[in-house]
Amino acid sequence: MKQHNTEALRQQDAAHHLHPFSDMQSLNQQGARVITHADGIYLWDSEGNKIIDGMAGLWCVNIGYGRKDLPEVAKKQMEELAYYNTFFKTTHPAVVELSTLLNEVAPQGFSHVFYTNSGSESVDTMMRMVRRYWDVQGKPQKKTLIGRWNGYHGSTIGGASLGGMTYMHEQGDLPIPGVVHVEQPWWYKHGKDMTPDEFGLQAARWVEEKILEIGADKVAAFVGEPIQGAGGVIIPPATYWPEVERICRKYDVLLVADEVICGFGRTGEWFGHQTLGFRPDIFTTAKGLSSGYLPIGAVFVGDRVAEGLLAGGDFNHGFTYSGHPVAAAVAQANVRALRDEGIVERVKNETGPYMQKRWRETFGNFAHVDDIRGVGLIQAFTLVKDRSKRELFPDWGEMGMKCRDIFFRNNLIMRACGDHIVSAPPLVISKEEIDKMLDVAARCVETFEKEVLF
Ligand SMILES: *Cc1c(COP(=O)(O)O)cnc(C)c1O
Repeated sequence: MKQHNTEALRQQDAAHHLHPFSDMQSLNQQGARVITHADGIYLWDSEGNKIIDGMAGLWCVNIGYGRKDLPEVAKKQMEELAYYNTFFKTTHPAVVELSTLLNEVAPQGFSHVFYTNSGSESVDTMMRMVRRYWDVQGKPQKKTLIGRWNGYHGSTIGGASLGGMTYMHEQGDLPIPGVVHVEQPWWYKHGKDMTPDEFGLQAARWVEEKILEIGADKVAAFVGEPIQGAGGVIIPPATYWPEVERICRKYDVLLVADEVICGFGRTGEWFGHQTLGFRPDIFTTAKGLSSGYLPIGAVFVGDRVAEGLLAGGDFNHGFTYSGHPVAAAVAQANVRALRDEGIVERVKNETGPYMQKRWRETFGNFAHVDDIRGVGLIQAFTLVKDRSKRELFPDWGEMGMKCRDIFFRNNLIMRACGDHIVSAPPLVISKEEIDKMLDVAARCVETFEKEVLF
């Protein structure tokens, strides 16, 4: 293994590299941790520490690190056709083959995909697409998109607007006009004395109220993550999505699922809306599509919207790297492996249920851990002040960050989203590795309760 000079890398990183979503000055003082290589569910840093990656990178390395086949595919494709575009009456085998494969793994009625390079670009593409769709239908006034508070849809101006992260809106006058938000379906905080099922219907009615407030003739689409990821793995009650779907149909509002995290097996089905029990008109993907081996995203367009777009003449939208041959070839190999090696199926029948059982056992007896939840291989719990009253800590996010730092020190990566502690490991994680990860995590939460809270 190549030797790295950690101090020199840290200094040069601090001098020349602006980190996303970071307090850069304080990071530069601490020095970033230098990750040098990875295999399976493990990362290594430049000081030789072996780290369990309980987050699959940024929720994306579904197939695990260190695959030997994907680089081979990339090399071969790069030698054969490193790049060509698909704008002007051309196509290429890699993008055609990927599209055909995606049609096989997608639910019925999603015959077409549009390619991007990231989740944010998928979301922006979808936003332009739904507006274009209504234009073609002769309803150009149907423009408003409804997102949700604490939803995450990326960092571009469109995606950050549609997302409901107020700390993002604050930086740069977002949201843009034509984007509005409703409250998230987070029972623990907003459910009051309702049962989760009652609350799910209530939260869906917030969508209906917003549609009526704006006027159904002005609303283009409602957009939500089947399970909110970056918002802290908020899993809506079972009643929520079917009711949202009914409402969208009633008012002829397009229903969009942002599957950037939930897609490609994370919840045990290929796509999160299949687990959550609803049928969108469009869904956006990225992350697990290539398991992070190369940047690529895809918008899956349902037949109704696709027919509208096809009838409308030019759709004036696209990226230089839409359907990039190398990314498309790697995505194809990744999706084939997720399917043909039974990885998605194993999440559904074996490792997912095992994780959920062990996750609940492991964290069920801590005084300040509550709302222990998850499905497939996406799970979370919330650090709370008083379980008996469903009372959160006063300074939202402070405890989460402290707990997260203890994991990090102990060579386990889990993430804090506010005081939600979340995990989404590579889908190839074994039962033994789940046990190992949870042993470390339990010791860390013990330390947290002892050292931080008392
Ligand atoms: C990560 C994420 C995005 C943004 O994807 P990028 O590739 O970072 O642009 C959009 N939507 C959801 C649900 C995500 O989790």
